Amino acid sequence: MPADPMNDAKEIPAAEQAPRPMRQFAMSLALYLLWSAIAWLAATAGQVSIVEPGALILLTGITATNALGFGIARSKSAAELSPEATAATQSLLGIGWATVFAIFTVGGSQLSLGMFLCANLYGLFQLRQRSFISLALVAAAGYAGATALRYGLGRGDWETELLNLVTYVGVMAWLAVSAHHLHDLRRRLQDRNVELRQTIKKVVRIAERDQLTKSFNRHAIMDTLSREKGRADRTNAPVSVCILDLDHFKALNDEHGHLIGDRVLKQFAKRARSELRAMDAIQPCDHRRSLGRFGGEEFIAILPGTPLAGAGVCAERIRESVASQAFDELYRVTVSVGVAEYRRGETVHEWLARADDALYEAKAEGRNRVVLSGEPLNVEAEIRELRPNRG
Ligand code: GH3
Ligand code: MG
Ligand code: MG
Repeated sequence: MPADPMNDAKEIPAAEQAPRPMRQFAMSLALYLLWSAIAWLAATAGQVSIVEPGALILLTGITATNALGFGIARSKSAAELSPEATAATQSLLGIGWATVFAIFTVGGSQLSLGMFLCANLYGLFQLRQRSFISLALVAAAGYAGATALRYGLGRGDWETELLNLVTYVGVMAWLAVSAHHLHDLRRRLQDRNVELRQTIKKVVRIAERDQLTKSFNRHAIMDTLSREKGRADRTNAPVSVCILDLDHFKALNDEHGHLIGDRVLKQFAKRARSELRAMDAIQPCDHRRSLGRFGGEEFIAILPGTPLAGAGVCAERIRESVASQAFDELYRVTVSVGVAEYRRGETVHEWLARADDALYEAKAEGRNRVVLSGEPLNVEAEIRELRPNRG
């Protein structure tokens, strides 16, 4: 059952997965590891050699980059970073390290090309077309600069490098077009997802409400009762239930008509909820107290974390609030309440039956009263202790 009986619907659980910044970090780390492994294999096979101090710069630089990335991804403020800015930064860093690799290696220009491509592709799903193209241009400039440097140092084969560069620019131009479509598609999917979640929330909300009083309906309140019983069994925390039945409601209907009866039911539920909320403010508990319409002019209040005495005080607040002020300033109504605290081992049915017996007693004793089921000896003292809190 949601926290606020009026405003919240059940939370739709998000798919269980690592937080976004950590996923983004893990993806980039995987890329670094992949390319380190490929470069190591190529070096072992004698296809590539790294000129000193290239290996040292790359090793310390990439390690430091990832340590910093990990620290940021784990930080509390990571979720506030925009996915696009994060992807752009990671892409840019990747391009930087690919450039360093290209400067310090002899041979293996395809390897450099692959690194530049991967660093650029990293942002394909996150970046807008303009950012993607900017980063592709930075990468092309990095590649061209590194090649010129290598050529100047006498380590380059400029014909192959030029072909590589043209290939790179061609591939990037094509991907830039795809980036636009992918980004657009991604945004539309995200919008749909948000709409869908809101719709599901609305549908759940409608399905669990009673149309007239906007309280939870019988099905929803019974669900909550079972859940709270389960929780009490697990945690040993107290939980109580109140059955509230309006007195002589048939007479009110007979005298003023069903429409007035409906208005009174609506306003009664509103008043009861407001008293429950007031209790939440006085004695906060993990799960808030909630009201459901059991049927007709009978309601159920579930009071998690509340022992019998506290539930008695809560019921008394509702009773007094109803009796003390006429609805629409015209229709005087009273309510009788039966209260029962859950006893470990009993079924929901038995628990409710005890509250119902207490309600029956309240009716038999003359109505407009609260009766507690199986009052413990210290209940009077507990009630006295709680009473000064009446706000
Ligand atoms: P008691 O004090 O013993 O509870 O008497 P009562 O008249 O309230 O109890 P009873 O069970 O005899 O009658 C309940 C009445 O509640 C009968 C029915 O007309 C009325 N009622 C039930 N549901 C609704 C509803 O949705 N709208 C209106 N206006 N009246 C309702
Ligand atoms: Mg009644
Ligand atoms: Mg009744």
